[in-house]
Amino acid sequence: MPEGNERFDVVVVGCGNAALCAALAAKENGASVLVLEKAPQEWRGGNSYFTGGLFRFAFDNVDEVFDLVGDMSDTEKSGVEIKPYTSGGFFADLYRLTDNMSDPDLANTLIFNSLPTMKWLRTKNVRFVLASGRQAFKVGGKLRFWGGLVLEAVGGGVGLVDFLIERAEKDEIEIRYASKATRLIADRMGAITGIEVRGENGPYEIEADAIVLGAGGFQANTEMRCRYLGPDWELAKVRGTPYNTGEGIQMALEVGAQSFGHWSSSHTVQWDLGAPPFGDRKVGESFQKHSYPFGLIVNIHGQRFVDEGADFRNYTYAEYGRRVLRQPSRIAWQIFDQKCLPLMRDEYRIREVTKCASDTLEGLAEQMEIDVEGFVKTIEEYNAAVQDTEFNPTILDGKKTVGIDPPKSNWAQKMDAPPYEAYGVTAGITFTFGGLRTTKDSQVLDAENKNVPGLFACGELVGGLFYYNYPGGSGLMSGAVFGKLAGEGAARHAGKA
Ligand SMILES: Cc1cc2nc3c(=O)[nH]c(=O)nc-3n(C[C@H](O)[C@H](O)[C@H](O)COP(=O)(O)OP(=O)(O)OC[C@H]3O[C@@H](n4cnc5c(N)ncnc54)[C@H](O)[C@@H]3O)c2cc1C
Repeated sequence: MPEGNERFDVVVVGCGNAALCAALAAKENGASVLVLEKAPQEWRGGNSYFTGGLFRFAFDNVDEVFDLVGDMSDTEKSGVEIKPYTSGGFFADLYRLTDNMSDPDLANTLIFNSLPTMKWLRTKNVRFVLASGRQAFKVGGKLRFWGGLVLEAVGGGVGLVDFLIERAEKDEIEIRYASKATRLIADRMGAITGIEVRGENGPYEIEADAIVLGAGGFQANTEMRCRYLGPDWELAKVRGTPYNTGEGIQMALEVGAQSFGHWSSSHTVQWDLGAPPFGDRKVGESFQKHSYPFGLIVNIHGQRFVDEGADFRNYTYAEYGRRVLRQPSRIAWQIFDQKCLPLMRDEYRIREVTKCASDTLEGLAEQMEIDVEGFVKTIEEYNAAVQDTEFNPTILDGKKTVGIDPPKSNWAQKMDAPPYEAYGVTAGITFTFGGLRTTKDSQVLDAENKNVPGLFACGELVGGLFYYNYPGGSGLMSGAVFGKLAGEGAARHAGKA
């Protein structure tokens, strides 16, 4: 189709969660909307497709959670134990994990809009279920939720993308695949007037009153990763889409946008050693290995290098991949015994897994091809340091080690119930933290802190929310919150809302 003399009120760049929320909000507010997606249709959904679909939001009352799920029987409701996760709790987690660096305007906007945006997503036919499989353990006949994260989209990331695209199609929003945005067009005063696109038949321009950038971070761009994150980052695996290569950020910087946030940091997890260089849409997120708080992690010298039980998984997983990248050969092994197995997540049971098993520690080390003596010594010292208190996976149980470094601060059980299992991991980057500076209305700011007229941004390419670390489930939530605000703002800018 088109290519030439086209005009839309709002053009949205990207077709992931943030961009689609922006497109739906702009359309709801009366704008004509076009979505440009660089990837071919079979790769639609960006990183959002690869997610578990988990959303972190603040709620004062468990009924607010039940309302978002809808159709829950009294028996189902009484079978779960969910503590309120207040806005204060969300703030505390965000600030604790980001070393108090998260931008207050962005943080406030994210947190106070989280529940209303979940309700808005429901009106767009996104359906949610309790994240019982990942975020709860059975205690005394009830499923007890932990870590402030309780809902996921039905069908995970795949389901989420399907819901949003289905709705966009119903709202008659055109999504143009294999169409890469290459340059923002601005007038002499710096106001955005359109965008240049490279489609299947070559380059062309589209006029627009407003552009929303939702084109993801730069994690799939090897050169930018190395330039901004540092040495060896070109060697990390990318967990998700290969298409998030930073053009959204670069395009905006070229028209004078301000860079913001933690450019040298990223969300990076422990990812299967044998995983391909980019995400695999069939395996999805299952290359991640996230039950390590109940086991131990060693490097090829058999040495531990993190406190596996420092906090709930949600609050350490995004950082520990970076710690693995710094180990020799970028390799680590997660070790478990039979006591751990009932607690382990489904991702350990997939066919595409790097796994060893043995009745002895020596045999396990030989299979892992790591330093046998070093490994056995580490486990013996660890076992001797474990304190004899009660184990409880649903709370920070304080069952810890004493006298070893690094310590294990919670869930420290002796590693003494063979057969032992080991899972090989390396660093898998999820998304980068540095990006553009935006207002709480998702408008992009220039270097003088003035709006770039007509330019809005949302999702991974917004800087300033996450530094060092990240509370699990905040990526989709921030994409939805700032996507919705960007779409509304763009429609307003186009004189529609
Ligand atoms: C395996 C995995 C599991 C995750 N699980 C969760 C989870 O459960 N909960 C959570 O909150 N977060 C999770 N995340 C993080 C989450 O994926 C991101 O925070 C979120 O999806 C980012 O959404 P986005 O819309 O900004 O980017 P994306 O969904 O990546 O969308 C960006 C889109 O822009 C397109 N694009 C890029 N450049 C251009 C261009 N020049 N022109 C046109 N289009 C372009 C890309 O092709 C892509 O489709 C996970 C990530 C991964 C990889």
